[in-house]
Amino acid sequence: MSLEANQMVQSEDMESPECILCGTCVDNCPQAAIAFRFHCEMRLAS
Ligand code: SF4
Repeated sequence: MSLEANQMVQSEDMESPECILCGTCVDNCPQAAIAFRFHCEMRLAS
């Protein structure tokens, strides 16, 4: 697997079903342009 991280950053779309969240791109980005952020969305049944 090889994702085009540069292209993904340029297009501001970092979501990919192939991303395994290894963090290599975050650790190695020379501009610190990439960060992980997790969010949990809860929905209440109505
Ligand atoms: S977290 Fe890992 S698999 Fe996902 S885009 Fe970055 S380097 Fe690629």
